[in-house]
Amino acid sequence: ATPTSIMVGTGRAAELGVLFRKGEALQGLRAVKVIAFDKTGTLTEGKPELTDLHVSSGQDQDRVLALIAAVEQRSEHPIAEALMAAAQERNLNLPEVSEFDTVTGMGVTAKAGGMRVNVGADRYLKSLNMDLSEFTNLASQLAGEGKTPLYAAIDGKPAAVLAVADRVKEGTPAAIAALHEQGLKVAMITGDNAGTANAIARQLGIDAVEAEVMPDGKVAALAHLRKQHGAVAFVGDGINDAPALAAADVGLAIGTGTDIAIEAAQVVLMRGDLRAVPQALAISRATLRNIR
Ligand code: ADP
Ligand code: MG
Repeated sequence: ATPTSIMVGTGRAAELGVLFRKGEALQGLRAVKVIAFDKTGTLTEGKPELTDLHVSSGQDQDRVLALIAAVEQRSEHPIAEALMAAAQERNLNLPEVSEFDTVTGMGVTAKAGGMRVNVGADRYLKSLNMDLSEFTNLASQLAGEGKTPLYAAIDGKPAAVLAVADRVKEGTPAAIAALHEQGLKVAMITGDNAGTANAIARQLGIDAVEAEVMPDGKVAALAHLRKQHGAVAFVGDGINDAPALAAADVGLAIGTGTDIAIEAAQVVLMRGDLRAVPQALAISRATLRNIR
């Protein structure tokens, strides 16, 4: 491509809120066969809300939620915000917390009100040898509805299953439809539960799902997609998306996301609306067509 045509293309993209930080990304995008999206905060708003809370017999809902929210106060995960907001809505008093710890990609734990509390994914409590059979039917039903099931344990015993759900962004279905029309495959990479991820993917017509991916596993998930489909672009917003943004053939960061993600990406979407992705691809194709 001539420097002039690249300049014109990047200028047109900028008008649509798509910043190409390097001219090569405009050419790289043209070769892409599959676009992989992070789920939380990219396909969805990233503001989950508590939708369900079921406690074991003998447990009190408010007491369990207060313990959970107390532990989550120390977490920066969007799930933590959802659980704290739910406790606040019920005007619950939160007990004292100590010995907080995050188990990456799994959940959180602390002492709250003198009890050991664990909150997180099923694989987290299973890794602590807890028996979740009382809750597994309900949890898979919740996942089938596209909600993220979570478990809470008190003093080593499962005490509750709960679910959070996050709205799909307004522009997401149209963005996926446009990418399909452009002949691309669309994939999702997420740390979330496989049942939940598959339910959302089905709703959105997403072709491939890589779920229950640990934060350091997103790069391997991309390599897997590249092997199956060819050159891969990745769209993400979070700190844990930065390595994948750097490793993708083209990395596109959401401009409202974390700085670390933005720095790792070649392309920045100034608005969170994913319709900018097929628009950027169209500009890339048009720019490179002009010069041949
Ligand atoms: P993602 O960014 O896709 O949510 P993460 O690796 O951050 O992926 O989290 C993976 C899973 O770990 C979450 O879906 C949730 O089940 C669990 N988890 C992580 N952090 C927390 C937390 N603060 N509270 C409860 N569960 C958590
Ligand atoms: Mg995210």
